[in-house]
Amino acid sequence: MSLVEVEAAVKTFAPRQRGGDPVGALREVSLQIEEGETLAVIGESGSGKSTLGRAVLRLLDLDAGAVRFDGVDLGGLDTRQLRARRADMQIVFQEPYESLNPRLAVGAIVAEPLEIHQPKLGTTATRKLVHETLDRVGLPADAARRLPGELSGGQQQRVGIARAIINRPRFMVLDEPTSSLDLSVRAQVLALLAELQEDYNIAYLFVSHDMHTVEWVSDRIAVMYLGEIVETAPTRELFDTPGHAYTRTLLSARLSADPREKHAYLEFGQR
Ligand code: ADP
Ligand code: MG
Repeated sequence: MSLVEVEAAVKTFAPRQRGGDPVGALREVSLQIEEGETLAVIGESGSGKSTLGRAVLRLLDLDAGAVRFDGVDLGGLDTRQLRARRADMQIVFQEPYESLNPRLAVGAIVAEPLEIHQPKLGTTATRKLVHETLDRVGLPADAARRLPGELSGGQQQRVGIARAIINRPRFMVLDEPTSSLDLSVRAQVLALLAELQEDYNIAYLFVSHDMHTVEWVSDRIAVMYLGEIVETAPTRELFDTPGHAYTRTLLSARLSADPREKHAYLEFGQR
């Protein structure tokens, strides 16, 4: 049994405009994620990656199919049971600022999941854990008193990561977690995510449209095209012997990418 099992997940959205066609965001998508591994989902914009990430956490309902976490069918849980499960399953979004409450101090934002999942912890222990977690993600102690808007983009994403790891989840969806960051910062945040995975044995579903990023972070890659996974393979194998024409297109696009970008990732890979 894998930690995460998605079986023939289907999600169709009504057209955004009158007279438009329904959008098959997920067309019978199946995948498994093992304890402690990183499965990257790569595909161009609109291929259904974010829908998949949200569906896996049951942040949206499926039209058909199932998601099992640790053997438990999430579709069979009520709201309270699902909330309890969320301590083990977290998400980090692409736009850190939009995912943080701009009126709450960073310390309160990071404490929130503790207050939900460990309400009996008490003020002193909560504060201690918040400070340890901020330190763990590389934020200065005084960040706790700051508002998200006072931080840089990279620091904001570290807050999002701190909030996600504070309950020691076993699984995290990372939805383009570094796409909005500057290149130098991007490599640092990817290194942090790799360290956290190592330390806490967290499984990642790493959503990205960037081959450079997934090459360094993933154990396996699932290639998504128009709501379908067209190919899944171990990372090296996918790069060496891509099986699907669409995968080859993605790989050739990567060769013509900005050389500075390539350099930033080579540095990261050599750490
Ligand atoms: P990706 O993350 O790969 O860019 P998404 O999962 O966000 O793709 O979207 C997949 C498709 O579903 C797109 O065509 C998008 O426009 C559509 N879609 C996503 N969310 C909604 C929604 N809430 N309502 C209608 N269409 C949506
Ligand atoms: Mg997306």
